[in-house]
Amino acid sequence: MCKSSSCFVEKSMKTDIFPDNPYLLLTPGPLSTTKSVKAAMLKDWGTWDNDYKNLVQKIRQRLVRLATNDEQSYTAVLMQGSGTFSVESVVGSVIPDNAKLLVLVNGAYGRRMADIAEFLQIPTLIINAGDLAIPDLFQIKKTLLENPEITHVAAVHCETTTGIINPVDEISRIVKSFNKVFIVDAMSSFGGIPLNISDLNIDFLISSANKCIQGVPGFGFIIAKVDRIKQCKDRARSLSLNLYDQWKIMEGENGRWRFTSPTHVVSAFHQALLELEKEGGIAARYKRYCRNQEKIVKGMAALGFNSLLPRKLQSPIITSFYYPNEKFEFIKFYEILKKNGFLIYPGKLSNISMFRIGSIGDINFKDIDKFLSIIKDNKFW
Ligand SMILES: *Cc1c(COP(=O)(O)O)cnc(C)c1O
Repeated sequence: MCKSSSCFVEKSMKTDIFPDNPYLLLTPGPLSTTKSVKAAMLKDWGTWDNDYKNLVQKIRQRLVRLATNDEQSYTAVLMQGSGTFSVESVVGSVIPDNAKLLVLVNGAYGRRMADIAEFLQIPTLIINAGDLAIPDLFQIKKTLLENPEITHVAAVHCETTTGIINPVDEISRIVKSFNKVFIVDAMSSFGGIPLNISDLNIDFLISSANKCIQGVPGFGFIIAKVDRIKQCKDRARSLSLNLYDQWKIMEGENGRWRFTSPTHVVSAFHQALLELEKEGGIAARYKRYCRNQEKIVKGMAALGFNSLLPRKLQSPIITSFYYPNEKFEFIKFYEILKKNGFLIYPGKLSNISMFRIGSIGDINFKDIDKFLSIIKDNKFW
């Protein structure tokens, strides 16, 4: 008899009790997951049992391996809640009292990091590039030079607000030339865009279950330098979001979470990691996302929709499109697409009329062709 979790998934699949989802999510997390990822949630787990803790340990190992080949220097910590909880856990747990944070902002998620720091009364400086540009590297250098009291720098890899991709490699080179601790919100990019955490010398990288790894929502994770996390004892500004304590127990007690963990979500995430590997790893997934994104942009352009960002700033994760004209009614557009099997995102900028289409998740060319044909066949303006 087969007892492993993947066999359990296969058996569940054979019963085929799942109806198809009423629509695909063309949104960058939550996103469309495979049936087998959803099926992995059909089993109940005991959190103190070794089977479950082993699963957690396998996940932590795999995450580190996805980020670097220097497995000794890095560790992974899983944290309950949505991605923001993990960001708050890092910002609140790694910056000591007498320190100062520099946050690079070009969208809502950079702003959110600065908001968290402000809420926690951490002295913070912000470089705001505006929502349509990457941060000015010279300004970063100048700010670090003029403000030697800065100890930590935080940046967003892919700003999901617009889909802009920030040059974390160049930013890292500057941050490290000043010897600062580097925090990266790679929420919407990790697993979908190749990134080597040790080459980039990132100290803390944050992502979550429901983005490019293609799991379901319920927890986030932090991949961090072991030496750095060891320095964080007694720094946390929150009990439940204490990153050091979460790591200490997860590491010291072989995969135990401090408080009740989202067991079904963890199981689905493990399945999602196996499927990422089966697809060919991050490099293969990145290619699929790039092809999806290019196909969406080309198809939309042919239908009269221009994208917001120039090609060189555009990530393969999500694309912002201008409304085609004044008469365009987004609500109607949204409802017709939903009725025909696709959910998209509204815009996230207050001053520009736009909407967003994600290119990540379990979606392929056939889905995109269908999506484009629905837009073509309906008169929206
Ligand atoms: C999704 C996302 C987050 C976290 O958002 P939650 O809603 O808390 O999961 C943070 N940063 C970026 C760049 C994101 O895309």
